Amino acid sequence: MASSSPQQILQDVFGFNQFRHQQQAIVEHVIAGQDALVLMPTGGGKSLCYQVPALAREGLAIVVSPLIALMQNQVEALQQLGVHAAFLNSSLRAEDNARITREVMSGDIKLLYVAPERLMVGSFLSLLDEVQQHVGLALFAIDEAHCVSQWGHDFRPEYRQLTVLHHRFPDVPRIALTATADAPTRAEIISQLNLEHARQFVSSFDRPNIRYHVGIKNNARQQLHTFLEREHADDAGIIYCLSRKKVEETAAWLVEKGWSALPYHAGLPAQLREHHQRRFLREEGIIMVATIAFGMGIDKPNVRFVAHLDLPKSMEGYYQETGRAGRDGLQANAWMVYGMGDVVSMRQMLDSGEASEERKRLERLKLDALLGYCESTACRHQTILRYFGESHPGACEQCDNCLHPVETWQATQVAQMALSCVYRTGQRFGVGHLIDVLSGKLTPQVARFGHDKVSTFGIGKTLNLAQWSGVYRQLIAAGLLEADMAAYGGLKLTESARPVLKGAQEVWLRRDAEPEKRISKAERSARAKEAFAGANDDPLWQALKAKRLELAREQGVPPYLIFHDSTLLEIHNRKPHTLDEMGQISGIGQAKLQKYGDDFLQVLEEMD
Ligand code: ADP
Repeated sequence: MASSSPQQILQDVFGFNQFRHQQQAIVEHVIAGQDALVLMPTGGGKSLCYQVPALAREGLAIVVSPLIALMQNQVEALQQLGVHAAFLNSSLRAEDNARITREVMSGDIKLLYVAPERLMVGSFLSLLDEVQQHVGLALFAIDEAHCVSQWGHDFRPEYRQLTVLHHRFPDVPRIALTATADAPTRAEIISQLNLEHARQFVSSFDRPNIRYHVGIKNNARQQLHTFLEREHADDAGIIYCLSRKKVEETAAWLVEKGWSALPYHAGLPAQLREHHQRRFLREEGIIMVATIAFGMGIDKPNVRFVAHLDLPKSMEGYYQETGRAGRDGLQANAWMVYGMGDVVSMRQMLDSGEASEERKRLERLKLDALLGYCESTACRHQTILRYFGESHPGACEQCDNCLHPVETWQATQVAQMALSCVYRTGQRFGVGHLIDVLSGKLTPQVARFGHDKVSTFGIGKTLNLAQWSGVYRQLIAAGLLEADMAAYGGLKLTESARPVLKGAQEVWLRRDAEPEKRISKAERSARAKEAFAGANDDPLWQALKAKRLELAREQGVPPYLIFHDSTLLEIHNRKPHTLDEMGQISGIGQAKLQKYGDDFLQVLEEMD
């Protein structure tokens, strides 16, 4: 194997015809013995960047990986491809450890996945010394390299000691990989891992197969239910909620409605968490309702949607979470609903946290960027990429704003009314009361405070309740109003409201669409291009899926390890008649052709 060309390995082992984007350059660079830092979005194809060099170079490749689940997944996938791979971590029994060590020393294993803490143990480093002498070391791959960053929530202190590899084995090439795009994290990876001289391969972070949608919350559960029914009746997906309680309630509600949903959060017993994660990976069509504790290490390629019922804390968080959809490159949805309450409670949560003032200021800025994105009327792909310092031509036809453009309206006068009502009523009331005053409703509270006497009473009858809510939500999101913790969350003006009140600054707002009107012709035609358009109802497709599930169950592995959906879909569409034809299909290398080719040919024949 060691003398094969990268192209040959790609075809024979992985069953792919071409490298994607920068993969070839990266692979050649590492095969030549050079260091690399690879920044590529989720689903971009990072694993191949070290797996192909690992097979092309002499000796053992060491892959540092932060999570047991990740290692298991990768090793199982490689074994399916007929590659000798193994992992060492705390979950193994002593005898398995000893066996793997023997196989490493005899040169039988090509890729060894290890946890960072294992690497640091003196005895393991001595083992590597011996490996280098006898079989050689092909490379060190440092996966999820952003774990060195103490700012992210994936921080793993042991990652900071990985420089020892470089010092002890200076001639062995290192390749660090991450899907985290922001510049400070990148800089931290370079300095913490001593990668100053490594060549950087930065891919576009665009995820063209993900369709973004941000809706206004009115009845979140019902909206979610409608979304699932219309677009994801049989699909696996993740629903993110902020609190553990909401995770459990939402999961229970979905189950009641007939969905296969499971809860996941850090408060559940470890065993149950693991069980739910396993079911999500191994069964088809499971919906995981989770806090952000669920995510890293979830390599499931056919997550068809990620839904947010609560706001993430930042654009980075949003992009990382939504990025778990559609790793296989097929159509996927990132769907979110949010409302005024979310903005207010997120801001309050930040303000009341324990963090330093400096940190809070940073977090506020990050939240503001996210709110700007939510309220934006521009192409979402473009808005996201701009945030990460990349350009995009817009008009993606893959987001709500492009599929049904949002109107904006000159709302300066209305904004003045809304702000002035806050001021006149003493800057301590919530939106409900403010709207009552503007609409001229003489509620008991309005009467008690004498707010029927203020100048803004009844001046806003031209807008209805939903419209006024939209105005207030957008003014809060834009930072013209803020919730005052000391006054039970009542709204008060900020400095930014002053120029608007004085007439020195215009305000343009988006016109919130009625939920039902938001399905346009363009969207319907886009839906027709859906990942499995036509296939879902086809008996052949169902038969192929059933065969895949049967084979997966026999081996106790997730169905996507047998074939990805994209591969299965190609079998469905091309209907190969011979093993040779089957071998042409993307994702079917030699090992898989031998193992499964006949099984699927038989299904095709029976269904013909
Ligand atoms: P990442 O680790 O960057 O999230 P993966 O390595 O899991 O991405 O790859 C994502 C998907 O793309 C996988 O299903 C993988 O098999 C597929 N893939 C990667 N490279 C290629 C390629 N050159 N041709 C076809 N499919 C590819």
